[in-house]
Amino acid sequence: MLPLEIKRSARSRSIRLKIHDDKIIVSGPPYVSEEKLRAFAESKKNWITKNLAQKQQRETHYPLAWPDTLVSGAYLPYLGKQTLFQVLQASEKPAVFWHPDKIILSHFNGFNAQWAQPYMIEAYKNKASELANAWFLKYCPLLGLWPTGLKLKYQKSLYGSLGANNTVHLNWLLVTAPEYVFEYVVVHELSHLKYRSHGPRFWGQVEKLMPNYQEAERWLNNWGRCFKLPDWRAREESNL
Ligand SMILES: [Zn+2]
Repeated sequence: MLPLEIKRSARSRSIRLKIHDDKIIVSGPPYVSEEKLRAFAESKKNWITKNLAQKQQRETHYPLAWPDTLVSGAYLPYLGKQTLFQVLQASEKPAVFWHPDKIILSHFNGFNAQWAQPYMIEAYKNKASELANAWFLKYCPLLGLWPTGLKLKYQKSLYGSLGANNTVHLNWLLVTAPEYVFEYVVVHELSHLKYRSHGPRFWGQVEKLMPNYQEAERWLNNWGRCFKLPDWRAREESNL
């Protein structure tokens, strides 16, 4: 069983249980004793076991996982498909070419994992940024509002957010998900420019921009927790 973390928050009104990758968090209002919180977690043992099993099941069936190693001929998740990755010794400067059914990394010489792994991660982030910016151009004129910037980073279990200064933050791993899912997250965050909270007017705005947004929500509910960074570096080191 995973370690248990006890949390209290002045704002919480009830006891809650959450399963994370490496721990279980039980949280509640400050006046509830630690003993009571532990007892609550204990009483939910079956629920926890069932959820952990489901999570593991989902992860083993996740269709868009990264390959174990980054080599020519491997398949990389890109816009909802496992896409053939090919390395070509062809250009003066390294470059990545994104085709619907092929990702080509072109380089002058000296392909090696140490160089290529961070290079490909950067290329993915750039691709995510390019797509997000294209959707800004499509949707911002319809909204009549523009964000002040775009930031891409990896955040566990967060797809996107709108910062206080109206900067859109996106998880770059969205570029591995189907295109309509990534597009939806952009539409969602842009709609927050107009309505900050998730009220009916907010959802009405999302629907106006993207009538089939619920399909994307369903995809995220199923698979959104499977977004993971590639494990290349770790593996390479463990092979030494
Ligand atoms: Zn939101």
